[in-house]
Amino acid sequence: MDTNMSKKIIYHIDVNSAFLSWQACHNLSIDSNAPDLRTIPAAVGGSQEERHGIVLAKSMPAKAFHIRTGEPLVQALKKCPDLVIVPPNFPLYVEKSKAFIELLKEHAPVVEQYSIDEAFCDMTGMENLNGDPVQFAHTLREKIKNELGFTVNIGVSNNMMLAKMASDFTKPDKVHTLFPDEIEKKLWPLPIEELFYVGKSTSKKLRFLGIKTIGELAHSDLSIIKNHFKKHGEVIWNYANGIDNNLLKEQPDANKGYGNSITTHYDITDRTTALKIILSLCETVGARIRADGVYIGVVSVSLVDCEFHHVSKQTTLDSSTNVTEKIYETAIPLFDQAWNQKPLRLFGVSTSHASRERYEQFSLFDSEKNEKLSKLNTAIDSIRNRYGEDSVKRACFVNSETKHMTGGLQKAKRNQRNCSHHTQE
Ligand SMILES: [Mg+2]
Repeated sequence: MDTNMSKKIIYHIDVNSAFLSWQACHNLSIDSNAPDLRTIPAAVGGSQEERHGIVLAKSMPAKAFHIRTGEPLVQALKKCPDLVIVPPNFPLYVEKSKAFIELLKEHAPVVEQYSIDEAFCDMTGMENLNGDPVQFAHTLREKIKNELGFTVNIGVSNNMMLAKMASDFTKPDKVHTLFPDEIEKKLWPLPIEELFYVGKSTSKKLRFLGIKTIGELAHSDLSIIKNHFKKHGEVIWNYANGIDNNLLKEQPDANKGYGNSITTHYDITDRTTALKIILSLCETVGARIRADGVYIGVVSVSLVDCEFHHVSKQTTLDSSTNVTEKIYETAIPLFDQAWNQKPLRLFGVSTSHASRERYEQFSLFDSEKNEKLSKLNTAIDSIRNRYGEDSVKRACFVNSETKHMTGGLQKAKRNQRNCSHHTQE
């Protein structure tokens, strides 16, 4: 096993019956006397009138009636005539999912959202801060339950695949480990269908080859498996042996840029107001950069004047940064170069060359200052995440008509938004 790999600590965190739990939390937040959907036979599914509705999520008591996710509601009702069915509520799921990921980001240096209710966290090196990683997984599980009201399973291991397999062991509200030395006992006896990445057709073929358990796959001849399944065969053979060389996607896209733009409702004719708008855009862009744990190397400013002339200027930084002030400092001269003194209607700030690796070309003094600012910015982000983005404002925005954080979209959407195409050159 790769020595580097065995040093990693990866969590896979999976919300238990996410859609149903989230609906239950929501109902309880409106009426604390509402029945807790998690404690009665209940399912999330298409409306009962819709004959083709299927079960999207179910409570543990519903599971006791052998109700399965994906089965038609009609069939589920036959198994349990008293089943309470609630319709899906996707906006609610998005909101809960976001709160879930935000909480993880408060505790993990690298978070990769895997689906609406699942995420991987790279906790490598956090022992100094958190103590034993397994113990801390319990702390995190409790914290999610107390602060967000729903339960999760956490799988702990040295790679993503093993952590994901571990989180799928008994549910709900549990922490499981699946470290390499536990593979033989915990992973190998499982039926082949339970291995990550083994779908129906693959499992059927494997069974045809006489391979029924994960252990049997692990001990099979790799060349035979590769013959039958090509590249996919190698992947699942490695998985069966606990090998997963995938690293957490520290950034969704290596060339990802972060940008925001805003169209004003009136002409902006003075530099002071214009720069305030630029700063407010730098605030939201900076927050997103830090939320993703990256540093950017290029800043650009785009302007559209009242005659719809579009000008964009960009510059490469000597040292990459995640600091709002630095982005703003860079944006000011770009703004001055771009502005032709005509009244302005659209402002955009975008950044690119994002990377988790930081490059620096400045003096030690600058470096220290940058580090301090970076920490201060991150602290402000966490306060804003917790208490709302208006909880901390720069002095220049107090009593100002200019909003201190802008992006032309509501906050929730802004967080996912990349630079809008009309500001990208
Ligand atoms: Mg789940």
